[in-house]
Amino acid sequence: MALKILEGCINCDMCEPECPNKAIFMGEKVYEIDPDLCTECVGFYDKPTCLSVCPIDVIIKDPNRIESQETLYQKFVQLVNDNKI
Ligand code: SF4
Ligand code: SF4
Repeated sequence: MALKILEGCINCDMCEPECPNKAIFMGEKVYEIDPDLCTECVGFYDKPTCLSVCPIDVIIKDPNRIESQETLYQKFVQLVNDNKI
């Protein structure tokens, strides 16, 4: 599943440059994750790197965007083929 940033985000700027998919962007108030670009870092890393760098744990797995590892990998391949990442 894609990840999601909660409203408690303090805009510390740690996660945005770490995302290999450029899925993290500044929203109206806090950073947000584009679920169409987030692969949970599948294709790049063993675990979501944004989760590792966030100092206050406001990044969660979005229960509305459940995707299997296989689906996430296929998403990664498609994004590469489309030159989006
Ligand atoms: S899990 Fe990975 S791909 Fe998804 S937003 Fe975080 S750093 Fe980016
Ligand atoms: S690392 Fe966490 S607190 Fe910092 S900008 Fe990203 S989501 Fe917000």
